[in-house]
Amino acid sequence: MNVWFIGAGPGAPDLITVRGRTILESADIVIYAGSLVSTEMLGWVRSDAEVHDSSALDLGEVTSIYKSKADQKGVIARLHTGDPAIYGAIQEQIDFCVEHSIPWEIVPGVSSVFASAAAAGRELTLPGVTQTLTIGRIAGRTPVPEGEDLQTISAHGGSLALLLSVSRISEVAEALRTRYGADAPVCVVYRASWPEETVVRGTIDTIAERVAEAGITRQAIILVGKALASASGEYEPSKLYDSSFSHGYRSAK
Ligand code: SAH
Repeated sequence: MNVWFIGAGPGAPDLITVRGRTILESADIVIYAGSLVSTEMLGWVRSDAEVHDSSALDLGEVTSIYKSKADQKGVIARLHTGDPAIYGAIQEQIDFCVEHSIPWEIVPGVSSVFASAAAAGRELTLPGVTQTLTIGRIAGRTPVPEGEDLQTISAHGGSLALLLSVSRISEVAEALRTRYGADAPVCVVYRASWPEETVVRGTIDTIAERVAEAGITRQAIILVGKALASASGEYEPSKLYDSSFSHGYRSAK
């Protein structure tokens, strides 16, 4: 394999997968996304490996590295923040590899969506409350296709995780107010799993002000929905561990 697209996880170096770390340790070239991948991971890289920060490179520069190294049968580890499948900008790189017959593979990672839920200390799919999680964003420099505006994607009222949106938290709260209500719980998690991780809790009504007070304008996830604050008794205990429920691995008592 020449090019490995590796999910580096949300930030904490020990949240990369064992597979991702093993490839990183053996790579001839490492290209990492500077702002959201911990430089601590670079300590595992071979001392003779070439290391590039992708924030200084455009697509053509990155793909020409792939091409020249692949010709020499080198191993390239391309580190992407979180899991590369969401907002990872990997598809154009994969298509380049396909076009140039460069072998490639994806190694999944822990998305910041799930690191944020962990920081908030909540399950996002509570039986009787919601069984749906939508991952999305507000339109920014990258527009969202028609029918994917916040009102539409939140119409089911379940759990929402919004990336790339915290700089416009007031607009987000306004867009969600009608469906969720002014008191709906919202949790903003800044740099989940990094030492400076911050969790700001509020409601549709209060969150914009609290986020402004905390000085958060980027690198955060907005979690929304009743699952964030349902107390015991407001949701149904899972059937999976219910003693009267049989499944493939256990019979009902
Ligand atoms: N592929 C990444 C997302 C990349 S888009 C993933 O799976 O996590 C970049 C956006 O991800 C940021 O604007 C922010 O919304 C979110 N993000 C990335 N790392 C984060 C972290 N540690 N804590 C909170 N949000 C994070």
